[in-house]
Amino acid sequence: MKNNINLIKGTHDLVGSDIIKYNYILENFRNICNQFSFKEIITPIIEQEDLYVRGVGEMTDIVSKEMYTFLDQGDKKICLRPEATSGIARFAASNYESGAMKLFTYGPMFRRERPQKGRYRQFNQLNIEIIGDKNPYADFEVIFIASRLLESIGLKNKFKLLINSIGTKDDQTNYSKALYEFLKLKKNKLSEISQQRLEKNTLRILDSKDTNDQLIIRDAPKLKDFLSNSSIDFYQNVKNLLSSHGIGFIEDDLLVRGLDYYTHTAFEFQMFEEKRQNTILAGGRYDELISMISSRDIPGIGWAAGVERLIDLISIPTFAKNKKLLIAVQDTSYVAQFKLINHISKIDVTFEVKSGHNIKKFFTYADKNEFDYILLVGDQEFHNSSIVLKNLKSKEQKILLIKDLDLSNEIR
Ligand code: ATP
Ligand code: MG
Repeated sequence: MKNNINLIKGTHDLVGSDIIKYNYILENFRNICNQFSFKEIITPIIEQEDLYVRGVGEMTDIVSKEMYTFLDQGDKKICLRPEATSGIARFAASNYESGAMKLFTYGPMFRRERPQKGRYRQFNQLNIEIIGDKNPYADFEVIFIASRLLESIGLKNKFKLLINSIGTKDDQTNYSKALYEFLKLKKNKLSEISQQRLEKNTLRILDSKDTNDQLIIRDAPKLKDFLSNSSIDFYQNVKNLLSSHGIGFIEDDLLVRGLDYYTHTAFEFQMFEEKRQNTILAGGRYDELISMISSRDIPGIGWAAGVERLIDLISIPTFAKNKKLLIAVQDTSYVAQFKLINHISKIDVTFEVKSGHNIKKFFTYADKNEFDYILLVGDQEFHNSSIVLKNLKSKEQKILLIKDLDLSNEIR
């Protein structure tokens, strides 16, 4: 006997009600993106490792321990993409011309994390980006879209928006020095990974999930005290736009997001419900990213949402369903000879074909599976070039001739 081949750890099949929800989320996402004039892009799943090392940052969790990297035939290091923004930034670096380039995408991302509920090694993200727009209105717009999307899939009043400003790279450098001086004195008490980060990328210590690190960080200098006046103004503009449009938010000065490329606005949407994985959507401004991966300097802002986390939260949507038709024939060849499929494919109906001699069985099956109509062709109907169509709800029954059959008049 052969062993079963199992799923790879941290991966899953999307099927049944999950795929219905997936498609529903995607449809709402597409609609809202189209409404706000975003254009779709699909970037490759594999990219050069350097894209993420330079963009996301060497000392981040993603690059330091979560990436699926392999050597291609020669010596090129290739990665399965852990996130979508870097790929879009790579595209924009070669294709951006002027004005705001508004793009959306979705698809699988790969991170070698410890699998848990809501945390997988292959998972799906929705993603929007506005490239080339330095106006705080862009920050507001992406956050507004996120909020509308979550409402449209039935999560109204179930989430909160946390925001912060992490300033410009200069603000971060100044802050980083102060943070370094503070943490240096406590170095021995920090976790091992934070000790490594202290020298290489002090700011990343703020992402630490270690509770002891978090206690130490609580008393550390705050980034908000290092923001320049223009950064404070920018942040204030974003907050004003959100407030004037009725988007509530909570300011969280510890929110720094786990990637190096962020500047200015950082935000997360979290569920009120206390769950371990309750961040459903997160993003921010990344005015330096494109200059880190190319010779161009173009600002950007965007977000990503975790589709699996959304799937776990929403209820199965109810759609206006197609009518269901059971085609029940005594002999399968009748379907072809009457070209029934040609007739059926012209109308909005979901159908199934069954063959056999026991007419009672057809009716039992139709009843059990909630069919609305049954179309019968027995030997007698076949010889008369006719069909019997019965409406199973009204019980009305008609005999119709094939030569002038128009089912669109009958099934609605
Ligand atoms: P976390 O702190 O939960 O690890 P993150 O900061 O790494 O999240 P982002 O890179 O900002 O996450 O990704 C945006 C969203 O994608 C997250 O808010 C989450 O909903 C989803 N996401 C991230 N990692 C995973 C994963 N491994 N499995 C499922 N969804 C994920
Ligand atoms: Mg993570």
